[in-house]
Amino acid sequence: MKSALKVYNSLSRKKEKFEPISAPYVGMYVCGPTVYGEAHLGHARSAITFDIIFRFLSHLEYKVRYVRNITDVGHLEHDADDGEDKIAKRAKLEKLEPMEVVKRYTSYYQTSLRKLNVNEPSIEPVASGHIPEQIKLTQQIIDAGFAYVSNGSVYFDVLKYNESHRYGELSGRVVDELLTGTRTLDGQEEKRSPLDFALWKNASPEHIMKWESPWGIGFPGWHIECTAMSNKYLGTRFDIHGGGLDLLFPHHECEIAQSVAGLKTQPAKYWLHNNMITINGQKMGKSLGNFITLDQLFSGDHPILEKAYSPMTIRFFILQAHYRSTLDFSNEALVAASKGYKKLMNGLRILRKMEYSPIDTINVDEKQEQELINLTESCYGGLSDDFNTAITIASLFNVVKKIHTLQLNPSLFNNISKESFENMKQTFIALTNEVLGLLEEAPNNNEVLIEGLLEWYKQAKENKDYDQIDRIRAWFKACGMQIKDMKTSIDWAYEEA
Ligand code: ZN
Repeated sequence: MKSALKVYNSLSRKKEKFEPISAPYVGMYVCGPTVYGEAHLGHARSAITFDIIFRFLSHLEYKVRYVRNITDVGHLEHDADDGEDKIAKRAKLEKLEPMEVVKRYTSYYQTSLRKLNVNEPSIEPVASGHIPEQIKLTQQIIDAGFAYVSNGSVYFDVLKYNESHRYGELSGRVVDELLTGTRTLDGQEEKRSPLDFALWKNASPEHIMKWESPWGIGFPGWHIECTAMSNKYLGTRFDIHGGGLDLLFPHHECEIAQSVAGLKTQPAKYWLHNNMITINGQKMGKSLGNFITLDQLFSGDHPILEKAYSPMTIRFFILQAHYRSTLDFSNEALVAASKGYKKLMNGLRILRKMEYSPIDTINVDEKQEQELINLTESCYGGLSDDFNTAITIASLFNVVKKIHTLQLNPSLFNNISKESFENMKQTFIALTNEVLGLLEEAPNNNEVLIEGLLEWYKQAKENKDYDQIDRIRAWFKACGMQIKDMKTSIDWAYEEA
């Protein structure tokens, strides 16, 4: 199974056989969120994409060290060196310390992901905890001749780098074209070229989050944190570097340049990028009024939402598309996802209880046996082909059909071997629960069931059916509840034992 895995590498722009640098160990670094706002669908898609990769590699018995960072240094959004500091802005707006903003939205992000059954990474480093590493790496890049100090800031010299290396190899961009596309911006006079990006930025007196450095008081650039932290926890060269497609340029392009310049190597063997989510065909944005947080999805509290959607419905919705395809959110798509999710869970419920139970002499039919084996193997086909969860879910639906057929016609067990049945059962349960991470959600209308049982109890009392009364009381007890039989009414309460 291991040798069959193929991954699409954004660097080579083709599917490649997955061969870790030192199997069975796999190092994976994924760019996490900047924590200045509520987690939304875009965060969920990226986290779930790499959660599947983490889970599937672990399922294939690779030993994965998965590092996903938290950007908590309120530096600059993307590469606009003079852009606003989002964390500081939020802090001013909410009258909080920047670290209170960081704590609040880090917790929000982690809690939302937990609801979506996203496993925690092995290490979740924060940028503010790795300032010395970022300073050291910046110095290494200066020493190598690829960065310069200017007015208390340090810039990466893109044109110098491009003389001996290729800036743009990941994104396919060409320096000459990038140059014609840029205009000189205010405050860029300290740079040699508009393409140069900050490794360290001189802090103005009002800047809140700042540190001492050999170049004066300042704060690190955004790109350098990922190179410093991936290097610290995974070494100069590791297997997988991932993130959202919006990070491919300039963030990941800059990471490659920093690593090649300062650490003398391309950081990652495979670069993986998940595609974006659109809302009813539009890009998601606060100004468009279609910005939906995960909490709003779970509660249904947003004008765009027709109802609340459970975390597993959202997880299923995301998994129904291959991670490299765009995915469009709509109420109809979510309703369809909810149906699909329940179909899969119904299959799971039946299969968990189903035992291999031929009702006659076993007479394995070659054709039916082979069909079952192919059906089971096809479930791995999707995941092994660049983690295509959409294809795997389609195969799992075919298994659900088979499960229903076996349930209705137990005589069909006579024609298949126990081994093939057990293999199908194990594969279905493992892929659904462990790899896709789809778990059963408890039905949310227990109140109706309880009312019905109390009604039944009342009737049993009228009929003086004491056996029935005892049985119903026992069911309540088994659920940590008791029937309160009062003169005026019948109700239930939590058992206070
Ligand atoms: Zn990053």
